Amino acid sequence: VSSVPAVRFDAIVKRYGARAVVDGVSLDIAQGEFFALLGANGAGKTTLISMLAGLTRASAGRVQVLGRDVALDPIATRRLLGVVPQELVFDPFFTVRETLRLQSGYFGLDRNDDWIDALLHKLGLTSQAEQNMRQLSGGMKRRVMVAQALVHKPPVIVLDEPTAGVDVELRQSLWQFITELNRQGHTVLLTTHYLEEAEALCSRIGMLKLGQLVALDSTTALLSRFASTQMLFRLQ
Ligand code: ATP
Repeated sequence: VSSVPAVRFDAIVKRYGARAVVDGVSLDIAQGEFFALLGANGAGKTTLISMLAGLTRASAGRVQVLGRDVALDPIATRRLLGVVPQELVFDPFFTVRETLRLQSGYFGLDRNDDWIDALLHKLGLTSQAEQNMRQLSGGMKRRVMVAQALVHKPPVIVLDEPTAGVDVELRQSLWQFITELNRQGHTVLLTTHYLEEAEALCSRIGMLKLGQLVALDSTTALLSRFASTQMLFRLQ
């Protein structure tokens, strides 16, 4: 395994006016890691992810994906990332399959149907494949968002609060699939409000509070250091 980190945030800052919503975050996520970024509403998780995805420009600092700078090399880094955004973004009149074909087309993958079928199967979407997006329930739409992020088999998978408002069954099947991808070598970066989720899935946790990384450690060390979950929550 190469020592180049999958993701590197280097003294990254994002200001809106005078206010820094991300305030000097430095963090390396190793290749193959399953990493959780934990933080309350407004901590800056989504802002950090959108700088990683090249959707928001940093005010200062650098972001790298597998050694490539996001600002200097946006197209190459986009290919390395599979980002599942918090909002559901899709064309309501496309079928599920068309949505995934369109996304494959963005990456120049014209013959991707075998992998699309595998994704549909893994995410329990096979019988919805020919339905229009607007006909699907919220949970089904979210599954499509996950499939969409994975059409190009990205080495680094980023999920921004994917289980917010999602029922238990979907939550479990989603985590099973993402864990499987992680075991196959994909790096996973997850943002969440839920400590239990981070604890169950991730080997390392970074805690973000008001734009700053206030704790960063292995899950076991973090939990034992803060003796009780209660104390950890106070940190948030
Ligand atoms: P949540 O869990 O609610 O999604 P978060 O940790 O993802 O929270 P962000 O969405 O990154 O937090 O927001 C961090 C802070 O930045 C918030 O206080 C938000 O109001 C502010 N913010 C985000 N985008 C903008 C913007 N375009 N202009 C001004 N302030 C913004």
